[in-house]
This record gives sequence, structure tokens and C-alpha cells, in this order.
Amino acid sequence: MRVSLHPTLLRRQLDSRLKKLTTSQPVLAASLVRITKFCGRRSCRCYRGEKHVAYHLSYKVRQKTQTVYVPVDLLEEVRSWIDEHRRLKRLLQEISQLTLALVRGHAQARQRRRGRP
Ligand SMILES: [Zn+2]
Repeated sequence: MRVSLHPTLLRRQLDSRLKKLTTSQPVLAASLVRITKFCGRRSCRCYRGEKHVAYHLSYKVRQKTQTVYVPVDLLEEVRSWIDEHRRLKRLLQEISQLTLALVRGHAQARQRRRGRP
């Protein structure tokens, strides 16, 4: 992202991002982990090497990793909720960068008005 130092352009870039800072679906701050399991039953296909595939979510609570099982029929939705969190996070980072540039630009403009380089 290119950050302009012109206050009008900055405001325009900020406004366009602020408008996107909305969502109509659940938002999930976690990562999806694919695991393979071996149940050990002699009659099962995993006994012949075809392991069971399962998914769980991994997330942190006070620096401790927690996991939660994801039922297969919810998998696609869970993926889209994680993507939505990524999108919003990226957007917030850009908004923060632009807001910082706004603060910097303001300070520079004040210095220029006082006749300093
Ligand atoms: Zn099995």
C-alpha cells in the first residue's frame, strides 16, 4: 500500500477503507489445522494406511493454545469466517498506517507553516 502524505488524499484513502470495515458474517480469529488419525481397529481402512482426516481450530487464550473440533459439514463456513477475520485484520492495519501518516503529515505541515524545513 502506498501512503500519501497529502491530507486530502489520505482522508480519501482512509474513508474508502473505513467503509469496508463492516461484516455480515461471523468472524473467527483462529487457524484451521488438518489432522490425520489412526483408530487402530483392524477392520478399518486406517489400518491399511488410509488415515482418518479431521479438522480442528487452534486459537490462543492468554498465551495458551486451545483447540476445538470442527464438524466436516461446518468446514467451508469456518474457512470463510477465518478469511473474514484476515480481511478485517489487514484492513485495520492499513487504517492504522494511514492514520499514523495523517498524524505525521499534520506535524510536518505545522513545521512548514513555522518556516522550518
Ligand atoms: Zn480407523
